[in-house]
Amino acid sequence: MKQDSSPASSPNSDALAEDLVYDRIVDALIDKNLRPGERLNEAKLANAFNTPRSRVRRALNRLMNERLVRFEMHRGAFVSLPSIKEAYDVFETRLHIEAAVARIACERINSDGIATLREHLQLEHEVYDDHRPSVNRISGDFHVLLAELTGNEELTAIVRPIIRRFCIIQSLYERSSGVLCLTHEHGTLVDLIEAGDAEAAATEMMEHCKHIFYSLDLSEKRRSEANIYGIGEDNLNKQ
Ligand SMILES: [Zn+2]
Ligand SMILES: [Zn+2]
Repeated sequence: MKQDSSPASSPNSDALAEDLVYDRIVDALIDKNLRPGERLNEAKLANAFNTPRSRVRRALNRLMNERLVRFEMHRGAFVSLPSIKEAYDVFETRLHIEAAVARIACERINSDGIATLREHLQLEHEVYDDHRPSVNRISGDFHVLLAELTGNEELTAIVRPIIRRFCIIQSLYERSSGVLCLTHEHGTLVDLIEAGDAEAAATEMMEHCKHIFYSLDLSEKRRSEANIYGIGEDNLNKQ
């Protein structure tokens, strides 16, 4: 689970350090510190993360494979803007994977796990009440935490990037009328998981995912509003 303030780097593992660079860039996308179309200066990022440029480049390559970053010849890396089709694809995938997470969680999670989840709900409410920009990310972390608590690392490895991409889509396409407070729905989920009611938990999870997704304004109009740096239509359509 990632908190608001994770350490800048880990001296022990190169792989982890690269993961952290990747995580930080993704977090900046979710928190809207980096906006669609914004240029990603490799040297500046390396400086900011106190890490070699080669590591930043590898993180950017990963983000490019996930279509969150695009490269332009002689110009470098830019934040891209997930398309409406991509949003639907990510949503559909998330819906079914998360139902499975909820079912497995009901079989596996013990009272310590339930306590960990309830602690996270506390954090979510604080972040929401303070109107912190990290609200979507912290809400998303609930789902990654739930997957982690199943103890199934393969499942977690599938869930984590889906949640991240969904959070970015959520941040970009959410209505200007405001951010949802999802802590109560998360609370209901934790209650059902604690009760071990797998079918009810899976249904609640899917309803929760739909609630978030259908609250978004998935229109070309919203997409062009989010495109404050004016990514060309050619580039928009390519994604
Ligand atoms: Zn949620
Ligand atoms: Zn609330």
